[in-house]
Amino acid sequence: MNERMKVMKFGGSSVGTVNSILSVKKIVEAVTEPVIVVVSALGGITDKLINTSQMAADGNLAYEKEYRDIVNRHIEMVYTVVPAGDKRTELLEKVNELLNELKDIFQGISLIHDLSPKTSATIVSYGERLSSLIVTALINDAEWFDSRKFIKTEKKHAKHILDSDLTTELIRETFKELPKVALVPGFISTDKQTGEITNLGRGGSDYTASIIAAALDADILEIWTDVDGFMTADPRVISNAYVISELSYVEAMELCNFGAKVVYPPTIYPVCHKNIPILIKNTFNPDAPGTIIRQEIDHAKSKVIKGISSINDTSLITVTGLGMVGVIGVNFRIFKALAQNGISVFMVSQASSENSTSIGVRNEDAALACEVLNQEFAKEIEMGEISPVCAEMNLATVAIVGENMKHTPGIAGKLFGTLGRNGISVIACAQGASETNISFVVETKSLRKSLNVIHDSFFLSEYQVLNLFICGTGTVGDSLIKQICGQQQKLMQERGLKLNVVGIANGHQAWFNREGIELSNYRALLDEKGGASSPQIIRDEVIGMNIFNSVFVDCTANSGVAELYKDLLTNNISVVAANKIAASSSYANYNELKQIARKRGVKFLFETNVGAGLPIIKTMNDLINSGDKIQKIEAVLSGTLNFIFNKISADVPFSETIRMAKEQGYSEPDPRIDLSGKDVIRKLVILAREAGYCLEQEEVEKHLFVPNEFFDGSLDDFWKNIPALDADFEARRKQLDEQGKHWRFVAKFENGQGSVSLQEVDKSHPFYNLEGSNNIILLTTERYHEYPMMIQGYGAGASVTAAGVFADIIGIANI
Ligand code: ADP
Ligand code: ASP
Ligand code: MG
Repeated sequence: MNERMKVMKFGGSSVGTVNSILSVKKIVEAVTEPVIVVVSALGGITDKLINTSQMAADGNLAYEKEYRDIVNRHIEMVYTVVPAGDKRTELLEKVNELLNELKDIFQGISLIHDLSPKTSATIVSYGERLSSLIVTALINDAEWFDSRKFIKTEKKHAKHILDSDLTTELIRETFKELPKVALVPGFISTDKQTGEITNLGRGGSDYTASIIAAALDADILEIWTDVDGFMTADPRVISNAYVISELSYVEAMELCNFGAKVVYPPTIYPVCHKNIPILIKNTFNPDAPGTIIRQEIDHAKSKVIKGISSINDTSLITVTGLGMVGVIGVNFRIFKALAQNGISVFMVSQASSENSTSIGVRNEDAALACEVLNQEFAKEIEMGEISPVCAEMNLATVAIVGENMKHTPGIAGKLFGTLGRNGISVIACAQGASETNISFVVETKSLRKSLNVIHDSFFLSEYQVLNLFICGTGTVGDSLIKQICGQQQKLMQERGLKLNVVGIANGHQAWFNREGIELSNYRALLDEKGGASSPQIIRDEVIGMNIFNSVFVDCTANSGVAELYKDLLTNNISVVAANKIAASSSYANYNELKQIARKRGVKFLFETNVGAGLPIIKTMNDLINSGDKIQKIEAVLSGTLNFIFNKISADVPFSETIRMAKEQGYSEPDPRIDLSGKDVIRKLVILAREAGYCLEQEEVEKHLFVPNEFFDGSLDDFWKNIPALDADFEARRKQLDEQGKHWRFVAKFENGQGSVSLQEVDKSHPFYNLEGSNNIILLTTERYHEYPMMIQGYGAGASVTAAGVFADIIGIANI
């Protein structure tokens, strides 16, 4: 055939609504060369036909309403898109005739309660027959052709398979003379022997179009659908998937076979064989360039992997046993038994030790597959040479595809490394020597996360995503959210880091959204959309979301929240804590959390536990990692206490300074935690542990300045009683003033011993001039011996603490 022509296929959504069907008219009428237009049923109708027939067969009379919906969809479409006149009357007559036939069939099956595959195939054929008649009437000069007359199938292994030779011959015969626009119902066919209605399988209209394009040597096959083209992943799962401009046939075939629904898999072969390109276009956005699929593409311009696809309908069947090793013909027998029973195998994995072969099949085939394999190997199973065959059901298979993977080292490493870091365990994997596809099987619950992490690491390497759960919206949490909100754009543009806050919780409310929460008015959103909150709820939700590159940020002082870290880290979720409770809890717990984090390849960071935003822990880690040894720590670690001892004067009594510290947000919510030295002890314990020593809170020696009885009652009692100390403090303060000294509450760790005490320091001491609420830390190490390393600065305050938390988060991103 020398004439230029093309085949265009419009899917269900393209003919599903009035607007889309009018768009089809416009697109087709703009074509100048002869065109064959293949259409699907109106969107959703095939599903509805299948459901309605099932209801009728079950004797459920509600099928009548479903049937009426089907009638209304079609009749309304006719009235809205075809103008009144002879054409409409003629069309209505044909449409009503088909709908009446359909009614009779439904009635029949509802009476006899029986739905044979043959009747089922007849019923679904009405979808395409109806839609094609409507589109024919709509498009100028269109002529309708009945695909049942030229798409022929034959029965093999209980399935209807295309008879390619006969079909090609009949298509050539039918289209010897090409009309301007030929209209063909997709999907439907007839058995070459019995003439009964059959079909090409769900999504089969793509295949109809491909078969016609190949038979007629079309210039191009255009598949018009509801997305801008073939995308890097299923856009319903990966919100930032994007259109691939070019794909080779091999790549497209690999992706479709593994569930990229945009093209029905058998579609590729007929046109590939004839070297006819496929163009995927969007009916709803015809100006978008779409995706071209052809033999030769410019691989130099492509990424190493082109796309990711998946099927969640996977069962893994493993034939295993020491009796298989070195025995010739085991695999032959496995595949022969499966093939004879019409079971399709989409993945095979065999270790070189030969003692097991794993096979991926659809869930619906799993039971039969096990049965036939147990039969085939009955003798070996009886002898104990092979174990009884069973299936692991409800798994998912993911494939990464790209011809550029060939001879590119490191792809498998990157793939499995990414999955491992995110706690996804791979159950089986396979890579053909053609190196265009690596497939692996995971649990269904890990599918979405797997797709996200892979998509993120292979396609969006321009920026990295961290998904944050922020717990606590008090002064620190609120300040952190504001800082993130202010930096989000800059980090994305300049540092390639996307901070996506996917959960915010406080003591009362919790709200989670995997697409990301708009931070500028998070409080209103939390009020509006938030649900109940408790550590348990937060734990279940955070782990349940199973989101990749997750970081849990604890800005609370809550012990229930601190208890969640173990489970979170175990589930590969990094933890950044401003909350000191976990790191200062028993050494065993602290150490276990650190070990879990290390084992899982995630981070447990708590820099702000000591010295707010000052880089103390990080500096100590750097010293130790580079071979130094910390011998002594001396520090003023309480911003609150330092503030109090700097403020106290003849005019401001001791009790008043405590009140001021609380009001200015320096102290813990309960200032007794500061005054009892508890807060400083916690910090000292954390520092000692990070310096490599094992220290418990109880082991720290305390020399306090507020007698114990002041801590016994309630907080109210404390506020009432504390002015009793003012006079004594003023007398001591005066004396100290005369000696030219200052009070500092000093934490010390040396020779395995920790202590906290109120000390009097004179002008020569480095702590003498410590202003306001500042902290100071002196580290004496093997290298910094004569002159200790000194770190000094704001040691309290919401914004510096939040900044320190923020720095830990950025540290996880490693940018
Ligand atoms: P049609 O009715 O036009 O045949 P389908 O629903 O069969 O359309 O296929 C198009 C749909 O395939 C898209 O709407 C999209 O949700 C889904 N899809 C899955 N994977 C991909 C992918 N990799 N690229 C594009 N679309 C995909
Ligand atoms: N209408 C059929 C289906 O929904 C065929 C197709 O749309 O391609 O599967
Ligand atoms: Mg489709």
